[in-house]
Amino acid sequence: MKAGVRELVLERMQILVRNAVSNARKNPELAQRQASLAKKLSMKYRVRMPYELRMNFCKKCKKFIVPGFTARIRLGRSDVKSIRITCSFCNHTYRKIIRKQAAQSL
Ligand SMILES: [Zn+2]
Repeated sequence: MKAGVRELVLERMQILVRNAVSNARKNPELAQRQASLAKKLSMKYRVRMPYELRMNFCKKCKKFIVPGFTARIRLGRSDVKSIRITCSFCNHTYRKIIRKQAAQSL
């Protein structure tokens, strides 16, 4: 792979997912298309999606989900700061541990 391609692909994926999130409410179909394009780029160039982008994909059905819209978010009640994300397509719930950094920015 040529140098710089990875950065280009990463940037492209970020733009696509960001657009998909902002389109999710008014145009869910377009959002799904943009999200799946980002996924295809990731596979084609074997560039791993950054954590913040992967958060927008359901672990089970792999659909693009938007927190607060197509996914429900609940705060965990244990000592470990975590959130529960429930996909509204397949109802799969998964837990995310919030890192200290992330918790501070909330
Ligand atoms: Zn799902």
